[in-house]
Amino acid sequence: MRRLSSFAALLALVLAPLSGAQAQGQTPPDPLAYGQDVIAFTHVQLVDGTGAKAKPDQTVVVDHGRIKAVGPSASTPAPAGATVIDGAGKTLLPGFVMMHEHMFYPTGRRNYTEMLSSFPRLYLAGGTTTMRTAGSMSPYADLNLRAEIEAGRTIGPDLDVTGPYLNGVGLPILKVHALTGRDDAVRTVNYWADEGVTSFKGYMHLTRAELKAIIETAHKRHIKVTAHLCSITHREAAELGIDNLEHTFAVATDFVPGKKPDVCPDQNLTAATLAGLDLDSAPVKALIADLVKRHVAMTSTLTIFETYTPGRPEAPERARVLLIPQTRAQYETTWAAIAKSGAGPWKGAFPKLMKLEKMFYDAGGYLMAGTDPTGYGGVIPGFSAKREVELLVEEGFSFEQALQISTLNGARFMGRDKEIGSVEVGKRADLILIDGDPVKDAMALERMPLVFKAGRGYRTDVIIDGMRDTVGLY
Ligand SMILES: [Zn+2]
Repeated sequence: MRRLSSFAALLALVLAPLSGAQAQGQTPPDPLAYGQDVIAFTHVQLVDGTGAKAKPDQTVVVDHGRIKAVGPSASTPAPAGATVIDGAGKTLLPGFVMMHEHMFYPTGRRNYTEMLSSFPRLYLAGGTTTMRTAGSMSPYADLNLRAEIEAGRTIGPDLDVTGPYLNGVGLPILKVHALTGRDDAVRTVNYWADEGVTSFKGYMHLTRAELKAIIETAHKRHIKVTAHLCSITHREAAELGIDNLEHTFAVATDFVPGKKPDVCPDQNLTAATLAGLDLDSAPVKALIADLVKRHVAMTSTLTIFETYTPGRPEAPERARVLLIPQTRAQYETTWAAIAKSGAGPWKGAFPKLMKLEKMFYDAGGYLMAGTDPTGYGGVIPGFSAKREVELLVEEGFSFEQALQISTLNGARFMGRDKEIGSVEVGKRADLILIDGDPVKDAMALERMPLVFKAGRGYRTDVIIDGMRDTVGLY
């Protein structure tokens, strides 16, 4: 009897849910710094996300979550009773609209685990106010999280929820369904559209027949399709009418020698092909021209490829402390091995990738940005979006262009540019405040004390420091 009752007590204890705060033995501090109805940023440098040149000494008035006025501080008064934020020495930006994010993180041995507690907060604290979950391991989790955020029960970016990875046979990830053909592709797209996803993503092992069926079925429902391709070339997917291609030219198999139709070549061979590619050659220029002509948007995700490239910086310590010991060790060990080897296909492929993206843009191509927190880790929400913008500047874009790629272009692609994507009167007040001048030095993005979503301002340090030892767990 005694053994039984103590067992029952133990069971009750085990089953009692512990909230995160209880588990840490304390109430986390409130990250909300500004919840007032009317807020005025005065004397701030403004980069508005439209690609226009930075404007000095501006005032931006926010009223009930919307941008009410934008103009020179000399002629744009702060309304009486407004909460004034002195922006002298600071820069105001629109919130990032990132197109290749995920709610999961690589937790080892081909496991990708949802970070439904830490990631929405961290994405927001890194300046991302809208994101596409470009390929989901757990679409119901992303859909339910979207509802939680919309209801104000969780802070985080607006979510464009992408359906499950649409992939055929050949991927060793047990969470991903392997499509059995065209009919299965149609059935799967319709099912998830009914469930409420708002975008789809094809993956590496599709046949052209399957991708064609995916695009046609999704388009009938007015849903756009992107893909991380491998078995299908960029040229083939563009001909099939795809809307968007992930990772730009990093995964293009168009130039891989011996490429067989509908078969995904070895990824190292694809990267090695990119490393050796003659960027001035006619086939390269023809592919770029074709993608531009067919209005295929491309998503740059330099952050993930940087992790595979020797000689590139490690994720900052403040980001690495967010990782639990196991995911931190996984990242640091692999990063150190790549750094030590000093070799691998990405050493040559990464600079080529940067040049190709710039060539595509300069030829009139539509470029968007994302971060892709996958691989072996180290692309960490809260830090990755600003890193992507910094890398776009390194690629050769002006800061204003890099920002437009990372804000308004994504909003326009999703058909949400009337609402978000730039700092313009009438739009929702999704704003980033930077301490310093990122136009002069993009690394100033690292000093991002406040992020506003719909006019509510959050202290990023409170969110980030409250998320130590979480990434990899929840
Ligand atoms: Zn991805």
